[in-house]
Amino acid sequence: MRLLAWLNGLVPCLLLAWDAWHGQLGANAVNDAIRTTGLLSLVMLLLSLSVTPLCRVTGWNELIAIRRPFGVWAFLYAAVHFSIYFGLDRELSVSSTLQEILARRVEELGGAEVVENGVTVVEYKQEVDEVTGKKVAVAVTDSGRTYRGDVLMGSDGIWSKIRHQMIGPTEANYSQYTCYTGISDFTPADIDTVGYRVFLGHEQYFVSSDVGGGKMQWYAFNKEPAGGEDRGAKKDRLMELFGHWNDNVTELIMATPEEDVLRRDIYDRPPIFKWVDGRVALLGDSAHAMQPNLGQGGCMAIEDAFQLSVDIREGMEKGRDFDGILRGYFAKRLVRAAVIHGMAGMAAFMASTYKAHLGEGLGPLEWIRQYRIPHPGRVGGQFVLKYTMPLVLEWVLGGYSGVLRGAGRAPVCRIEDKPLGFDERMFPTFMRDDDELLRAARANWYLAGQNGKGSRVDLRADGETVVEAAGESVVVRFGEDGTYYVDASTAVTRDAKPVVSYTSSIALRPGDEVAIGGETFVVKFEHSSVVSHGHGKYDRRAEEVIAHPESQLVDA
Ligand SMILES: Cc1cc2nc3c(=O)[nH]c(=O)nc-3n(C[C@H](O)[C@H](O)[C@H](O)COP(=O)(O)OP(=O)(O)OC[C@H]3O[C@@H](n4cnc5c(N)ncnc54)[C@H](O)[C@@H]3O)c2cc1C
Repeated sequence: MRLLAWLNGLVPCLLLAWDAWHGQLGANAVNDAIRTTGLLSLVMLLLSLSVTPLCRVTGWNELIAIRRPFGVWAFLYAAVHFSIYFGLDRELSVSSTLQEILARRVEELGGAEVVENGVTVVEYKQEVDEVTGKKVAVAVTDSGRTYRGDVLMGSDGIWSKIRHQMIGPTEANYSQYTCYTGISDFTPADIDTVGYRVFLGHEQYFVSSDVGGGKMQWYAFNKEPAGGEDRGAKKDRLMELFGHWNDNVTELIMATPEEDVLRRDIYDRPPIFKWVDGRVALLGDSAHAMQPNLGQGGCMAIEDAFQLSVDIREGMEKGRDFDGILRGYFAKRLVRAAVIHGMAGMAAFMASTYKAHLGEGLGPLEWIRQYRIPHPGRVGGQFVLKYTMPLVLEWVLGGYSGVLRGAGRAPVCRIEDKPLGFDERMFPTFMRDDDELLRAARANWYLAGQNGKGSRVDLRADGETVVEAAGESVVVRFGEDGTYYVDASTAVTRDAKPVVSYTSSIALRPGDEVAIGGETFVVKFEHSSVVSHGHGKYDRRAEEVIAHPESQLVDA
């Protein structure tokens, strides 16, 4: 019994230590441990319950003796472990959104009734409390109710009423783009190696991002006047706009339920130089609503909030007045928020003016496109981005670390459940070699027939696959370098142009079309976990790092 008690405590510690050893200790690790514990408890309880019927059937009555201690232990096991995890849940915020974490902490500090939803603030006032004689900020709601406090933070978004009152009416800028968004249970083939993608087109662009748990979030931007509405299904409209784009785009749209697709017009506001009025201040989009292209609007709101909390704590310790604390907060946030606002605008400009080839958007001169001459803006942009991006990103993502360090927080972004889908030393190689990146995907390759019968031929990853159609056949060979090849005489089309090879074979890429016996097959690939579990069941933490030849590794 004592041994069992030891094991009871040891199991969660071992599981979590294992994850810590692999650098993956975090919410996911605790979630996994909860799942394992739940299953183990269930098995033990079932075993203990099955002892009596088993004794009846077999006549082994001595088993009865172990039933009770076993059952009691199983119950204790479940109770102790779930208490441990419940504690960890509160500490490590298992399965919580940022909003839930914030609400929970606010309730912990202020009491259960302190968070009130569904209240619309329409204006603010500054008053002096008759009893204490101290200055107070007053929020007035649409029903006439008032709330008083030392400070009032107007974190009410881009259409902020507090901002409107503080600086007067200002126009929001329409970006000229409407944006459809969705989150779908979808696992792209290369999810282990590529977490974020931007597809650029003329006056259209598409962004997809791994948001964990086998889910992908995506944004589809289309240039059109504000205020448009969809008469039919949003997905039908999206397929009209993006149906001819890459599989990575269309498959994601198709995999998203219609009711989960949202649409909104994208606005921002120019930076302002007044965020504070006495004891009232702005925070987040109300102060600096920016274009979404850098993914920084929410991040800046979080940095604002963190700065505010640091300043209030320090200011109160030093006995400073709240008006002064808010002015200090504004002074510390203004420049960084404005610079990132500018960068986001620049990123939006680049995405919305992108042209792949000369002739695009040139009306009567569109015919020049057929020559596929790279657009000088694209080439120049790539060059500039290649050399400036590392510095820019370091400042955008890590530029706030000084404040974090000063406040005793980890100065780095910790994505503890990030997938270990590849050896991180391969990163420089992936950055310069698309083929290497493609090979590193844990994907099963197949040929999808386009004759309407949905025929599919899975390609072997250990030799040759013979693909036959209408009496003709093509051999697809899996090379030692991890690439699929066909003979150079095979009719392969890429981006609507025949692939010409000067060697004896053609290396296939996803999206290529292979003609066999008059039938067209498209080269596709899907993450290997999709084959065994289906989309949405993907475990982000790859079990092992993909092996790469030592010779290709770059020293870390
Ligand atoms: C397409 C798109 C993609 C984006 N992607 C990213 C990204 O990847 N990363 C990132 O960091 N940011 C991103 N952003 C930006 C991010 O969503 C915003 O910057 C962020 O939500 C701003 O937070 P906020 O709290 O200031 O305002 P909001 O999130 O707008 O919250 C304002 C809140 O105030 C409430 N409210 C409004 N008026 C009143 C009132 N009168 N009284 C009471 N309550 C009121 C609202 O109901 C709402 O709950 C994206 C934005 C868009 C449009």
